[in-house]
Amino acid sequence: MKFSVKLFLFGTVSAAVIGYLWSGPTFNPESLKGAKVLVTGASTGIGEQIAYHYARLGAQIVITARRENVLKEVVKKCEDLGAQKALYIAADMANPTDVDRVVEFAEKKLGGLDYLVLNHIGPSPYRMWDGDMDHIRWLMQVNFYSYLQMTVKALPALEKSKGSVVVVSSMLGKMCSPYALPYIATKFALNGFFGSLEHELVMKQSNVSISICILGLIDTESAIEKVKGYIDMAPYPAHEAAWNIIKTGALRQSESTYPSYVYFGMLFRDWFPTHRDMVIRGIYNYKP
Ligand code: NAP
Repeated sequence: MKFSVKLFLFGTVSAAVIGYLWSGPTFNPESLKGAKVLVTGASTGIGEQIAYHYARLGAQIVITARRENVLKEVVKKCEDLGAQKALYIAADMANPTDVDRVVEFAEKKLGGLDYLVLNHIGPSPYRMWDGDMDHIRWLMQVNFYSYLQMTVKALPALEKSKGSVVVVSSMLGKMCSPYALPYIATKFALNGFFGSLEHELVMKQSNVSISICILGLIDTESAIEKVKGYIDMAPYPAHEAAWNIIKTGALRQSESTYPSYVYFGMLFRDWFPTHRDMVIRGIYNYKP
């Protein structure tokens, strides 16, 4: 390898490591005391952990998902952990009327809104795509359109409070991969839409910040169940992912990654596309 190429690679890798390690402004947990927060998909998994962290920090929370009995239990635990207020509303994000109802409920009960944390996902099979268009349309409604609709509905209240929209996304919304095509399509759509919306809000000098949290494999029941038998990779803890999401929103960062391999994966994604694709298929034990 030529010296100039080595120097270029060394410089880029060093810059990437320094960029990753630079922590930027520091997070003040006190800033979330009394914050008015709506968390979606909070009956289980990462959303549930997000609710518990906000509760420990003394926030006022509304949580939502479809299963009322589970939401009740999460609310009870949030109260025990120290939430100033904890309420739930059962809703199905496949239904556009429910989507508006959730935002109206949260704004009314909390007297405004500081954080809209969009985290829910509809169940989707982990297998090769079978051409099922109905499922893709349904999943787009749940995982994508409902995020947009909630944002539109909440923007006036967030504008008043200098608030934030926090979008929970995935490395699979940045990198193509087999077996989860409908899910991946919704996550690419989210990254594209909210990344672009952020530009427009800045150009309009809006008070509202947009944060996109890009996650790798996290140890939630639904994720582990799906990848079992496909990927042999250690997942990261949901409570840490949730903490990272809360920090990202509070610091009004445009984008964050968790765990660290996601940052480097995204950084080097387009350097050697053929090798990248071989590695991705290799994860699924495909041999050409
Ligand atoms: P999860 O455990 O499957 O939780 C999904 C949540 O969404 C549940 O609270 C579920 O509650 C709710 N939900 C499902 N369908 C709904 C509907 N139609 N209407 C309203 N709510 C609905 O998911 P997770 O693993 O915690 O993932 C959370 C977020 O992290 C997602 O945005 C996901 O893309 C992202 N992420 C996760 C991983 C991972 O490895 N876990 C990796 C990258 C990104 P109900 O069933 O009660 O409705």
